Amino acid sequence: MEKREQLYRGKAKSVYHTDDPNKLILVFHDDTSAFDGKKIDQLDRKGMVNNKFNAFIMEKLEAAGIPTHFEQLLSDQEAVVKRLDMFPIECVVRNLGAGSICRRLGLEEGIELNPPTFEFFLKNDELGDPMINEYHICSFAWADEQSVESMKAMSFAVNDVLKALFLDGDMLLVDFKLEFGLYKGQVVLGDEFTPDGCRIWDKDTREKLDKDRFRQGLGSVVESYEIAGRRLGLVFD
Ligand code: 5GP
Repeated sequence: MEKREQLYRGKAKSVYHTDDPNKLILVFHDDTSAFDGKKIDQLDRKGMVNNKFNAFIMEKLEAAGIPTHFEQLLSDQEAVVKRLDMFPIECVVRNLGAGSICRRLGLEEGIELNPPTFEFFLKNDELGDPMINEYHICSFAWADEQSVESMKAMSFAVNDVLKALFLDGDMLLVDFKLEFGLYKGQVVLGDEFTPDGCRIWDKDTREKLDKDRFRQGLGSVVESYEIAGRRLGLVFD
């Protein structure tokens, strides 16, 4: 597969066209950022760790019957994916309170959310990714009603699969963000699933093994991502 011109350059990853119009190449970088790009750093091995972490999770989801854009690993920091027409929406599922829901609703970090809760956000850096609802999505035609229902159902299906997977590795899946798109008319999971876009805690100590280590200056960021990966059965070189 031939890598062609760049379609998108983000801090954590870039997307390239290929000689196949239906396929893209994702490149995972060592750069990391938080707080809408206000905190930026380079973390050795992060690109490789996130690329392999993402491939592992996407393959587990495919095996569970959830359609994803993932096709195959191409190198340590690259993967081939299907080209989706992305919705400009972030879907967040929360099993425990952490992050923005605690700030918004004045909750203590770590309270159980039973049943798990769900939120939509608009992907818009300038506006700071504001929370939106289903009516906004339909009124502004960011997605149709049927796709909204599919995104919700698939997000909860992902939660069922991954909550159990992480628990097998003595970890709690606190929350996560997903992005979806259309591929030949079907809603398909796109983007990535890595510790950059979810919260993972040790089940017993509640030690953080995700991007909050970077956001909160706790150190050992990539090392913690690798610990989480290894506990799921992943092997990093
Ligand atoms: P919160 O709303 O608490 O900031 O985030 C909820 C979950 O979604 C967290 O796991 C967080 O990492 C993830 N998340 C929310 N927005 C983004 C984003 O713009 N990029 C990434 N990578 N993850 C996000």
